[in-house]
Amino acid sequence: MDIAARHDDPGVEELARSIYALFPRCVRCGGTIASYEDADVRILSHRVVHRGRCADDERAAEAVHAARPEIES
Ligand SMILES: [Zn+2]
Repeated sequence: MDIAARHDDPGVEELARSIYALFPRCVRCGGTIASYEDADVRILSHRVVHRGRCADDERAAEAVHAARPEIES
């Protein structure tokens, strides 16, 4: 089951918040994410990035990785 698709599930919301509490730094730019509202939590990979540009970069990197798994992102 793809739990990332269940955004309206309060358990998923709680999980995303606890991941953010553990990893309040963006894995893309290395900066601190000021609030949960500014964070884009990738639940399945336990990676946290800024909403907006960093999330776009993360999605692009995931797409490249999915197409060519031998490349480390
Ligand atoms: Zn960032």
